[in-house]
Amino acid sequence: MRLDIVTIFPEYLEPLNVSLVGKARARGQLDVRVHDLRRWTYDRHHTVDDTPYGGGPGMVMKTEPWGEALDTALADGYEAGAGGPGGPALVVPTPSGRPFTQELAVELSQRPWLLFAPARYEGIDRRVVDEYATRMPVYEVSIGDYVLAGGEAAVLVITEAVARLLPGVLGNAESHRDDSFAPGAMADLLEGPVYTKPPVWRGREIPDVLVSGHHGRIARWRRDEAFRRTSAHRPDLIERCDPAALDKKDREMLSILGWRQGPDGRFWRDADAVEQ
Ligand code: SAM
Repeated sequence: MRLDIVTIFPEYLEPLNVSLVGKARARGQLDVRVHDLRRWTYDRHHTVDDTPYGGGPGMVMKTEPWGEALDTALADGYEAGAGGPGGPALVVPTPSGRPFTQELAVELSQRPWLLFAPARYEGIDRRVVDEYATRMPVYEVSIGDYVLAGGEAAVLVITEAVARLLPGVLGNAESHRDDSFAPGAMADLLEGPVYTKPPVWRGREIPDVLVSGHHGRIARWRRDEAFRRTSAHRPDLIERCDPAALDKKDREMLSILGWRQGPDGRFWRDADAVEQ
């Protein structure tokens, strides 16, 4: 997979040389190219921003440097034949974007080439997104309901979530199977607690079931713990879950956790229901 990142802070992307993403780059699984937006400015101060039309506080990133930067990044790939039918997609981090979820990470991981446009100030002149949307899919993505000073941290988040889904990037391909939000049996549930050696630490023991060697019971315990944690931290996921995907034991666990099933099959809980 190829990743192009255009930024005014190339050094902010240094973590892409480390750990899982860094190793994937070294192995040639990820081709990461970081571009300094100021390369496409021609005044003494390398200006990339200007005052907003209509007035108001803050500055807006200018169209021209972004247009030239994105065109240059794209031209390079097309010449090398890296475009093709599954060509590039533009990813624009913005708090007003579509929430970044595991589902979106999976979707992005299936594309061969992502071009990131992390902004600073009040964002990029809208015409840039509108222009590239005529040439490629554009994903405007928010990593959460808060406002960062710039989009580079969002690029790091998205890149790491996407990279670990690429074939051969994780040492153990099974590793993301049971992740929170992973598609499949545990979908819509958060992963429960995990333990490793020693069996006793500061008087704290691990749950007996984990050393029982009984795979069925271990799987059930993991699922119950997933319900417990989801119920405590993300009750909205329980409310949205598909009742048809639950078995009798799942329902018993939800009942213990104070959930009731409405006539439409959906789960609900009294606000004062006590967590067990
Ligand atoms: N005025 C903008 C708004 O309210 O939508 C906020 C601009 S913010 C100060 C500057 C840049 O940081 C954004 O253009 C975006 O690239 C990035 N950013 C900030 N918060 C983000 C979030 N939650 N998710 C993704 N990117 C974010």
